[in-house]
Amino acid sequence: MKALVVANWKMNPPTFREAKKLLETTRKAADATEHVTLVVAPPAIFLRELRARHKGKKIAFALQNASAEESGAYTGEISLAQGADAGATYAIVGHAERRAMGESSDDTQKKVAAALAANMTPILCVGEATRTASAEYFGVVKEQLRIGLADISSSQLGSVIISYEPVWAIGGEKTMSPRDMHEMAIFIRKTVVELHGEKGMGVKIIYGGAATESNAANMLRDGDVDGLLVGHVSVDAPRFAALLQAIEDAT
Ligand code: PEP
Repeated sequence: MKALVVANWKMNPPTFREAKKLLETTRKAADATEHVTLVVAPPAIFLRELRARHKGKKIAFALQNASAEESGAYTGEISLAQGADAGATYAIVGHAERRAMGESSDDTQKKVAAALAANMTPILCVGEATRTASAEYFGVVKEQLRIGLADISSSQLGSVIISYEPVWAIGGEKTMSPRDMHEMAIFIRKTVVELHGEKGMGVKIIYGGAATESNAANMLRDGDVDGLLVGHVSVDAPRFAALLQAIEDAT
């Protein structure tokens, strides 16, 4: 089975020239793999041009964020239809950095449904900000899933990806342990089954939070996940190439 790797470039790099270069080295690294499906989420302003240069190649593109509204007076926003028109087939929804800027779970609910209506695959990000021994983080994740997935039918579950991202791990160098991820993956599946029935067992789950070239293969082997969402390492071309190679070597 192929691992899904989502490269979330966030607000990087500063220029289109650098974005072209980064995509080119990323593409070469991806071409050397057979067991990776790569999705690149560049800043939206670079998307159309990058997509045009890589038509038909092995990379798919994602929006990092989009409005759930179709059109209208929403200064500064872009719509899912505009993103699809520019070449995105995936949309990240509810990333922790967007939630920190005020995006609510109700917003993610609308965006997941709107992305599906626009024929895009939503990547719904969930994850707790902190972890304590009392394990209330399971309740946090459950609530994010309950609200985020409330507007979809069970038949649409196959077109949704859940990215579990413990906020406390994002941006660092150390993931949570694959064993803890395995436990969380079981919990996520159980929760989705409670919400949407047996089809929930097949929901795709990826992990995000400090995925690096050193830990990616272990997480994929032991974390019970279908892939990874990679932030800062995805904009460091040599490190990202090493991460893809580590996955390839392990499969
Ligand atoms: C992310 O952006 O969701 C992320 C996982 O970032 P990083 O890989 O830098 O922790």
